[in-house]
Amino acid sequence: MVGGGIVGCATAFFAAAAGLRVVVLERRPALATLTTPASTGAFRLQFDNPEEIAIVREGIELFDDFAARTGLDGWDLRLRHGGYLFCSLTDATVERSRHLVERQRSWGLDDVELLSGDEARSRWPYLSPDVRGARYRAADGWLDVKRLAVGYATAASVTRAGTGSASFCTGVEVLGLDLGADGSVLRGVETSAGTVATPAAVLATGPFLARTAALAGVPLDIRPTRRQKLVIPEMPDIAQDAPMVIEEETAAHWRPAMAGCLALWTEAATPSSEATDAVPTDPAWAFGLLDPRSDHALSRVTPLWADAWQRGTLHWFQQAGQYEMTPDRRPYLGHAGPEGLWLNGGYSGHGIMTSAGGSRLVIDLLVGRADAAANPFRPDRPMTDREHDIL
Ligand SMILES: Cc1cc2nc3c(=O)[nH]c(=O)nc-3n(C[C@H](O)[C@H](O)[C@H](O)COP(=O)(O)OP(=O)(O)OC[C@H]3O[C@@H](n4cnc5c(N)ncnc54)[C@H](O)[C@@H]3O)c2cc1C
Repeated sequence: MVGGGIVGCATAFFAAAAGLRVVVLERRPALATLTTPASTGAFRLQFDNPEEIAIVREGIELFDDFAARTGLDGWDLRLRHGGYLFCSLTDATVERSRHLVERQRSWGLDDVELLSGDEARSRWPYLSPDVRGARYRAADGWLDVKRLAVGYATAASVTRAGTGSASFCTGVEVLGLDLGADGSVLRGVETSAGTVATPAAVLATGPFLARTAALAGVPLDIRPTRRQKLVIPEMPDIAQDAPMVIEEETAAHWRPAMAGCLALWTEAATPSSEATDAVPTDPAWAFGLLDPRSDHALSRVTPLWADAWQRGTLHWFQQAGQYEMTPDRRPYLGHAGPEGLWLNGGYSGHGIMTSAGGSRLVIDLLVGRADAAANPFRPDRPMTDREHDIL
């Protein structure tokens, strides 16, 4: 197992549960310290295709029952079903939302509410008079990503009757793959601490997936794309029972956290860049969310942000990570290249919510319990255009 972010930890959990003996190799000094903690930790079923709805739903069911399913008595993921509220400011996005919700209902996702602007304001009075419509799913929400990652790792480390177990080696970098004389079969993994012999390796290296797949000569289209996050602790204006509030037009959004909130903008036009450990933050990006004069200001949907800006007393911190985008914004899950090599990545910004279902699927494929031909996320699938999924 290469990589000890949320995906590597989840994979170790499912591999150990399947009876495998696993070694997780993570080059940083601690688990879940690159992209995973930069995330918002949120999950939703409001997707634009039934395959992702199914795979994320599987994960949420696990999160809801995490302590019992992992055997970690009392393990608290700080999970909240706070809801996702997508707000439209134009008739065009009201119509786009209506169409999406109709499709979601046809796939069996029947608990997304379509609301008029007035209906939304009667439930969340802090919404702007400019909101013309909204879609809302109360069961969407968020959790603490570090507790989830470390929970997977802790559960995977415990040997129980009928299961395998995992050991975690931090500070160990994978530098090469031993593919035997003709390069067709994986025999081991070459690391900064020596060679580990293994018949199977799962690459879960987040934004670095293309770089590690290249060690086996496997070309992979991953486009690491910077995403930033504002952390604003102690902001009394933010009701802590608020949902995730998203503007459909701009994808600017916020959700309660730490007696304040987290705020983001997933700008569709952000160019991709090289994978890096040191993702820079840009102070101007924060003003784009906070300054009411910005064309993607948070105050467009929730005017309380304009009041907070006027007061001038907000404290904020910025964090940045990279979305690991694939051409169709769906993950690469399954075998690729030489026998014994498996991919688990390319989650395109959805790796917290999708990694449980995705990692379970990769392990089922690896042990022969799942049908590779029926896997909609197989790395060699034809890439198709999708309607823009804004987050
Ligand atoms: C701002 C932001 C907000 C987000 N919000 C959400 C959200 O709300 N919900 C959601 O589901 N997702 C969200 N995401 C996406 C989510 O964070 C990622 O999809 C997820 O963390 C990917 O996990 P990972 O384990 O694949 O990657 P990482 O956490 O990056 O872990 C990969 C690990 O591999 C290691 N590695 C790389 N190369 C090697 C090597 N050669 N040898 C050994 N180790 C190696 C790295 O050091 C790293 O620790 C967000 C992302 C960002 C940036």
